[in-house]
Amino acid sequence: MQVAMAGPGPSGLEVLLSTLQDASDSESTLNILNVLDELLSAGTDRRIHYMIKKGGSEALLRTLVNTGCSLSPNSTILVPLLHLLAKVGHRDKKIGHKAEKAGAVLLPLDLLRQSLSDVKTAAACLWLLRVYASCVSTAALLGKNGALDVQFKLITPHTKKHTRLVKAAIDALAALLNSKWNCRRAVSRGYVNSLLNLYEDWHSNDAENKHIPIRRALLHCLRHLTNLPEGRRALEQDGGMEILFQTTQACLASRGLESLAKSATQIMRKCYPKQPLPLLSDRSTYSFPLPGCPASKPDSAPTSEDNNLEEESDEEDTEIDDLDREEDDDLETDLTKLRTRPEPDRPLEELGQYARLCPELHYDFQDLDSDPDGEESSDEDGFLYSDAGPGPRFFSGGRREDQRSPGSENQGDPGGEGNSSCQAGSSGGPEPQLNPRDFHSQYLSSGRAGHEIPSMIERLLEKHRGCIPGHDPQVYTTTAANTKSIAGYSVLAFPDFWGHLPPPYRQPMAQRRQGVQRSKVFEDIQRLLSPADVVDKVVFDLEAPSSQDTAEDSDSLRFYSKFESGNLRKAIQVRSYEYDVILNSDVNCSHYHHWFYFEVSGMKAGVPYRFNIINCEKANSQFNYGMQPVLYSVREALEGNPHWVRAGSDICYYKNHFSQSSLPGRGQKGRTYYTLTFSVTFQHSEDVCYLAYHYPYTYSALQMQLQCLQRSLDPLKVFFQHQTLCETLAGNPCPIITITAQPLSRSWNHLHQFRNRPCVLLTARVHPGESNASWVMKGTLEFLCSSHPVAESLRDAYIFKIIPMLNPDGVINGTHRCSLSGEDLNRQWMKPDLKLSPTIYHAKGFLYYLNSIGRTPLVFCDYHGHSRKKNVFLYGCSIKETLWQSGSTVNTMALKEDPGYRTLPKILDKIAPAFAFQSCSFLVEKSRASTARVVVWREMGVVRSYTMESTYCGCDQGLYKGLQIGTQELEEMGSKLCQGLLALKRNSLLYSKLIIPASALGELSDNRLDHKSNSVFEDDEPPCEEEIEYHSDVCSEHGADSSELDAEVNGGGNDSEEDPLQYGLKTPDRKSCLSAQLLRKPSVEVVTVTLSSHKSFNSSKSHCLNSDLAHIE
Ligand SMILES: [Zn+2]
Repeated sequence: MQVAMAGPGPSGLEVLLSTLQDASDSESTLNILNVLDELLSAGTDRRIHYMIKKGGSEALLRTLVNTGCSLSPNSTILVPLLHLLAKVGHRDKKIGHKAEKAGAVLLPLDLLRQSLSDVKTAAACLWLLRVYASCVSTAALLGKNGALDVQFKLITPHTKKHTRLVKAAIDALAALLNSKWNCRRAVSRGYVNSLLNLYEDWHSNDAENKHIPIRRALLHCLRHLTNLPEGRRALEQDGGMEILFQTTQACLASRGLESLAKSATQIMRKCYPKQPLPLLSDRSTYSFPLPGCPASKPDSAPTSEDNNLEEESDEEDTEIDDLDREEDDDLETDLTKLRTRPEPDRPLEELGQYARLCPELHYDFQDLDSDPDGEESSDEDGFLYSDAGPGPRFFSGGRREDQRSPGSENQGDPGGEGNSSCQAGSSGGPEPQLNPRDFHSQYLSSGRAGHEIPSMIERLLEKHRGCIPGHDPQVYTTTAANTKSIAGYSVLAFPDFWGHLPPPYRQPMAQRRQGVQRSKVFEDIQRLLSPADVVDKVVFDLEAPSSQDTAEDSDSLRFYSKFESGNLRKAIQVRSYEYDVILNSDVNCSHYHHWFYFEVSGMKAGVPYRFNIINCEKANSQFNYGMQPVLYSVREALEGNPHWVRAGSDICYYKNHFSQSSLPGRGQKGRTYYTLTFSVTFQHSEDVCYLAYHYPYTYSALQMQLQCLQRSLDPLKVFFQHQTLCETLAGNPCPIITITAQPLSRSWNHLHQFRNRPCVLLTARVHPGESNASWVMKGTLEFLCSSHPVAESLRDAYIFKIIPMLNPDGVINGTHRCSLSGEDLNRQWMKPDLKLSPTIYHAKGFLYYLNSIGRTPLVFCDYHGHSRKKNVFLYGCSIKETLWQSGSTVNTMALKEDPGYRTLPKILDKIAPAFAFQSCSFLVEKSRASTARVVVWREMGVVRSYTMESTYCGCDQGLYKGLQIGTQELEEMGSKLCQGLLALKRNSLLYSKLIIPASALGELSDNRLDHKSNSVFEDDEPPCEEEIEYHSDVCSEHGADSSELDAEVNGGGNDSEEDPLQYGLKTPDRKSCLSAQLLRKPSVEVVTVTLSSHKSFNSSKSHCLNSDLAHIE
């Protein structure tokens, strides 16, 4: 810097500036201006900033006042002076205030009025006015003195003359519109209409695209004006949507016109009139009377939870906007809260009831030597504490009939019972007509009793009986008949009933089509422009079931979702092949729409159907980053391909034009919704297909799995107990499973070893929409019960306590996040309510009990799904890392902390292909204080207390890089987690032999902290390529375009018209955010053989961070 200024020297500049102000003759003034201009033209902005610091703006302003006040202003001085002022002022944030102070604000405006015919001077004035107007109060002052009109007069229809002047006038006008006052005035004077006409004129006459900057500047003005509601109304009334739509279509063909298309699209999205969702109320269709609450409660005014949507964010789901603001504020820095264990939330006497959940401690194994099958039949005399014992007790006859809640409806069509059209579904015959109504009615009967005439389903099962390991359709049907739902579901979704296998291939992440969002938005805008094309026909409505029947014989698709985990509320046909789909809110809630699961039928093959889920709530989604929904075809299943596959094209997720229902007293004002859109081309006509957010896993599936598992294992080896933790609000049993190795004998030694194995507690599915968590849990359960040698060692080493579904009611009723109480159960752990959150109350009670008998779990892990990140990772708890991250001044050297919390994630990074250590975080956040992870860590003292987050989407590292995740990979993760637990048994020789090389074990045993913790709030993904913000008060262009103004001003020297190419070059190249996701399919052999070696990059990166951390400490 010093060197750069060496010419006049730092003080030289000051001398120059003071000479300028004192200069009496125009020649010396001009000379100094030339020197200054040359000085500033070379080099970087730093010179200008230096000059501003030295009072350059003030000096120039004073010179302007001196020159401008003379009777006949000397334009030879004025023009270069105005140029210089514009250039310097453009970088001076306080230029407006300085100009006001110097009394120089109105000068260029007056000069402009006088020089309307003097193009050079007028342009120079306009540039300075534009710079002034960057300050809102200065802009308002100019507006009040008539600047709008003067400038607007200079904006002409298409012309080939003086285009620089026109451009300068439009830019200056846009700058003035920074002020709301000016905007209002402009709208009231009809500028919206005039600007639209001007834009259309320039668009149609500028055939060679020589004046893109002018067209863009006109749009810029419109963008400002449409920030006001009256501006948006004016634009719509004046046919602005049509004009912008038509002109934009013409722009799409040329890449050089991208900036125009983008800007016009933004305006159109902003001006698309907000519409309420076509619902009477956004409250869930279902309400559930809560214990202790009056029945009418659910539909009353919004509860506190409604108002706190922002804070209600998930372990993973903080809105992007909150990231910067909350990240560090949210870290818990109160040492007392981090280190002190709170008093138990209940009297100790209550804990005795949980003794029954430790059958391993009380079982007397009388049968061990004599009767290998005794385990199942001897629960009454085998246990000191008797419980329902193994096997679900709700199987006992007689209860079945009164399972359904009083309001339950019978969907079955008695006439459909004998329908034989599906017999053709067997091999040979003509293509069968798959009619979902037949399924629906048949399921009901086959679910109720097996002794009636063979149902269609039974006939299908006979002919097609597939071999899906661990799945039994009959058991599923019987289990499901005992599952209690609010709506009294009597229909099974075919995939859940029939079962499914992972497809024999892995699916890469979907490539995002360039411009897909824009094309979808255009289709949405066409609804407004061509209302005659819109069908607007309700084809499914949970509240008015009769509408489905009318759809039966039409050309419309048929929708259905009154089955477990289904949550469709309404489906509306928009155009022949396009449907808007509205999801039901969580029970007793008016939000949480994300999970979906529904059936469609009546389709034509080979035609792309567009589905829009129009009431999504999150700000961004993995659907913008390669994720596809899942699809199951009944026809394919019957042909031997029972697969959930990733399907759908043209997928994107964007903010739409729907808003909160406008009914008074309902919900939040102004909440906006997002659309998830995807197109599906069905393979078969008249198929029955299912679409879901992720691979469904129902409560009935869990119950069936537990039965099949228990049947399959070797009772001589595996001690397996299936008990009930408690009943849910709706009266469904919440299972708790104990798995360990049977003692070798009844000898004291063996029983002692058996009972003293450390305990591991695993839980899942507290959030019903996170079905991936259940697939991981399925993998865990199956692995632990398997005959794999590592599984044997694990059973020998630990007692596993597993609560595989903490929120059965939510899963059954298709909620995304809550239980029937309308609360997020993973925010209740601090003080769970016995009546409202029984599963959490008792899970915590059980932990207290384990604590009280000195059997605190060695590891606790709660399985979740993460909607915004890729891979699988853990969140843990560390005081030190939390304090470091928060920048706390507490001396952490003095704190003792067991670094063991890192061992498991580190080993998983080595052995589990989907796992990514670099996504793990060990920070304790205030907003997570009532989650399972933090409460179990803080209140129970479990050092290794984790949340495991599994992606819905796929992996961007490791063996599965570029691939979407499937049930197989999720199940594998569940088994790898268990394998990782063996590493905690340091001396296990078997471990090193079976799982990882000894060298890796050595690495694990050192307790170096080799990685900086990530914040839970961090998003893996960049803001979406096409994301368009259109809050009415946002002006994204404020302060931008600094180089553009320079170009204008400098261009003044040689008096040439601007070169459109110059601007073309400045448009930043938009890089596809997906380009990095190169897809590849590893061969199956690779997948099965290797385990590690893909993580070397991470560890080297970790070492750098490690040294950083070391410095901090
Ligand atoms: Zn979750």
